[in-house]
Amino acid sequence: MAVNRQWLLAKRPSGMIGPDNFSYTESTVPEVQAGQVLVRNLYLSFDPTQRNWMVDRPGYLPPVAIGEPMRAGSVGQVIVSQHEDFTVGDMVQTTGCWQDYVVMAPGQGPMGLSKLPEGVSPEMMLSVLGITGLTAYFGLLDIGKPQAGETVLVSGAAGATGSVVGQIAKLKGCRVVGIAGGPEKCAWLKDAAGFDAVIDYKNDNVNEQIGIHCPNKWDVFFDNVGGSILEDALDHINLRSRVVLCGGISGYNATERVPGPANLMNLVTNRGRMEGFIILDYLPRAAEAAKDIMAWVASGDLIYKIDLQEGFENIPVTLQRLYTGHNLGKQLLKIADPE
Ligand code: NDP
Repeated sequence: MAVNRQWLLAKRPSGMIGPDNFSYTESTVPEVQAGQVLVRNLYLSFDPTQRNWMVDRPGYLPPVAIGEPMRAGSVGQVIVSQHEDFTVGDMVQTTGCWQDYVVMAPGQGPMGLSKLPEGVSPEMMLSVLGITGLTAYFGLLDIGKPQAGETVLVSGAAGATGSVVGQIAKLKGCRVVGIAGGPEKCAWLKDAAGFDAVIDYKNDNVNEQIGIHCPNKWDVFFDNVGGSILEDALDHINLRSRVVLCGGISGYNATERVPGPANLMNLVTNRGRMEGFIILDYLPRAAEAAKDIMAWVASGDLIYKIDLQEGFENIPVTLQRLYTGHNLGKQLLKIADPE
């Protein structure tokens, strides 16, 4: 049988991750036991939080051990099945990791093992219907609780999560202002994704521009970035506003502990609320979000962009694209086509 190509975590990162954090190896294809299936990974998902899994500190999932295949979400095809609910050829979503083959069973790994719904492509399953789409949906609606007429500010706005947050906020009748890096991403947000205003944090004075584009301040801030952008945003908070703490990618590759915003007292004076969340807690409610998201995609009210890289050898450099802002949309990599 074929070999199982793998990228292992070789070295814990300090500063910006790079290909030298991983090592390539080839092993045998794992054996399948009763109740399990053998999946051939076809598409890998790249997620900023993978940088956090590489560090040996307590988190919401255990760190990846040195010498283990790097943890990653995937869509693949069942090659061997010893589970009655799965047949050879089924397309499935799971946590396949950076390797060709993985043995899985339902309920195993952070994402479990589930069949792709009829008509749903791997790209859609790993983006707008996957972790980033669900994160946008539940983070905005459950924690941000936007009301029609309110202003929603989104950082990391052109990314897989941020772009969906802004569009759902528009669907809920809000005015939406996005913060993203560079003219290309900002133009896409305004012209294609329908944001009301955009701020290019790489070229604009963010604090000043939030003031200009949120003349009545903001009511919900969906933060994917943290750092100075969070601090700038907090200078423009409305009374009884909500900050959805989704991520802090600006600090993921920092070598030292990142300082918090110096103006947290603005939450006190404005009776604001700031709340973090981890999307894994919402997975039992995924069907709720999927119903709305599929309807919005079908009606053309929700668009999504995929940045599809190819080739097993390009896996480590593809992860780096997220932290340099090179990804234009949800970062995926195709290993192979289904059979
Ligand atoms: P994206 O598709 O948004 O890609 C990451 C983007 O982050 C890049 O394209 C880049 O956009 C931006 N970025 C990178 N470095 C910086 C920086 N130093 N300052 C500002 N922006 C930066 O990824 P996702 O949609 O997958 O993730 C977005 C955020 O959501 C992350 O923080 C992630 O950890 C978080 N997340 C949280 C979840 C949860 O359960 N809480 C679940 C899923 C994601 P640009 O070119 O605009 O700089």
